[in-house]
Amino acid sequence: MENEIYSKINSDFLKSMNTHTRQFMLGIYYDEFKRISRNQALQKEFTFLEFSEKLEHNEISMFQQHCLNCGTIDIILESEGSHEPQYCTKCGRKSLSDFGIENIDRISRVFSFNNVAVSKMISTVHGKSEYSDKLITFDTNQIELIIINSVLETIVKEYFEQLMKLKLMKINDSTVIKIINESYKNDFQNIEKTISIFKRYLGINLKESVSEEDIKNIKEIVELRNIFIHNNGVADEKFLRKIENKTLINNLKTNNKIVGDKYIFLERSDIMNYVKSIINLFTSLETIFTLSFSQNIKNVFISYYLTMQDKTKRSSHES
Ligand SMILES: [Zn+2]
Repeated sequence: MENEIYSKINSDFLKSMNTHTRQFMLGIYYDEFKRISRNQALQKEFTFLEFSEKLEHNEISMFQQHCLNCGTIDIILESEGSHEPQYCTKCGRKSLSDFGIENIDRISRVFSFNNVAVSKMISTVHGKSEYSDKLITFDTNQIELIIINSVLETIVKEYFEQLMKLKLMKINDSTVIKIINESYKNDFQNIEKTISIFKRYLGINLKESVSEEDIKNIKEIVELRNIFIHNNGVADEKFLRKIENKTLINNLKTNNKIVGDKYIFLERSDIMNYVKSIINLFTSLETIFTLSFSQNIKNVFISYYLTMQDKTKRSSHES
């Protein structure tokens, strides 16, 4: 089983490397095999040739670990009978898509407990409901919009960071993390800025994979979140100029008469539409990531071992 954190080291894994790199990596794996074997007193001694043969034919079960989340690069030797590794031993991450799904699940959890709470609150006492439907809708809209926005930002930020690590071919270097952080600051709140950051730093044009409709919805999510947070959900002129959603604008006009102010009320279908756009964006990012990952991950850890070797050489020259 292959996953994002581990690659099984065998002939398939080694075949895409050129002869020189392949010999270099086999040397690394052999040294590590000998080191682990000595420590655990588990394995037999093999010559380099025997080891390479067995490794290529899956008779020795070794995995290259490469976690883009926490930056761990390591080699795992699987002892007989143990399970193939799935999760990063350091940060517990399995894959970026799992992380995205976990976050999108947050939205559905918030929806579920809002539904339970709302049905409880609007149930009537002596034929009279204690709370107004309208105000409860307003409160749940606010909570849902904030969580949708937070999931949106989290997902975009995470994909951007991991794509940058693949591009820069470094995953565990603090200067790289600094470069990444400085490149986006807090701009993933704004989809136009997100699009230009992806273009500028990664050469990726998100407009090719995200529909205009989804971009429009994502803009709206952020505007709504801002108006909920900064203006207590009361629409102002600036907000009305930015929003293209006709139903929402009409609702604002009608509701105005009921609650006396331009409080924003969203339809269930609006919220579901926003969630759909977040899922579409996530799917596009995952497609982009999967391609970049398959093209670049080997270069990432090979360059890590090459740098290590250079460092060792340099320090032995100096001493
Ligand atoms: Zn990790």
